[in-house]
Amino acid sequence: MSLRIGYGFDSHAFKPGVPLMIGGLHIEHAEGLAGHSDGDVLLHALTDALLGAVSAGDIGTFFPPSDPRWKGAASSLFLRTAMEEIHTAGYKIVNVDSVLILAQPKIVPIANEMRESVAELLGVPAGDVGIKAKTPEGLNLEGVAVAHVTVLLESLEPNGGKAVMTAEVAADEDELNEVVESLVTGVRDTSALGRKRPVFDTDDLT
Ligand code: MG
Repeated sequence: MSLRIGYGFDSHAFKPGVPLMIGGLHIEHAEGLAGHSDGDVLLHALTDALLGAVSAGDIGTFFPPSDPRWKGAASSLFLRTAMEEIHTAGYKIVNVDSVLILAQPKIVPIANEMRESVAELLGVPAGDVGIKAKTPEGLNLEGVAVAHVTVLLESLEPNGGKAVMTAEVAADEDELNEVVESLVTGVRDTSALGRKRPVFDTDDLT
């Protein structure tokens, strides 16, 4: 079984007069999050975590803020693209964990609803998604929402682990060489990993 981890971070400033979207959930609040897209800070960090886990660049690689097509875009579109990337690379989600840092609104009362929203977008059970929220004590970040996300992926084809197990019990040298050969020549196709190398000519402002 081959595992990979991914980590994503994002931040957006609050702005009056725009809808507040976090985790694909519309939240009633006086202010929303400013951004080229809908400003969904949690889905952006999640998208980056997924892309990072398979070395496929970042959200700005696929959706540069200089491109007018993504103005006001639903961030679920970014997430779908990241899901396609991890599937192409031969992986699926094991679980996701996240931390939101924001002063308002309070997340605890809506955390379950948000968890279900994210789980539905990812096509995983709600039990595989963690949503935690902190207030920015001592950080002077009252007008900002921050999201940190980690993901764990496992390979769709669990053939890598089999070869490693065989190596542990291989008795003679020929058998061991055969196992080493299979590991070196590659039992898992990683050609999709990093197949879209980022240009990095823009920073992500989505
Ligand atoms: Mg963003």
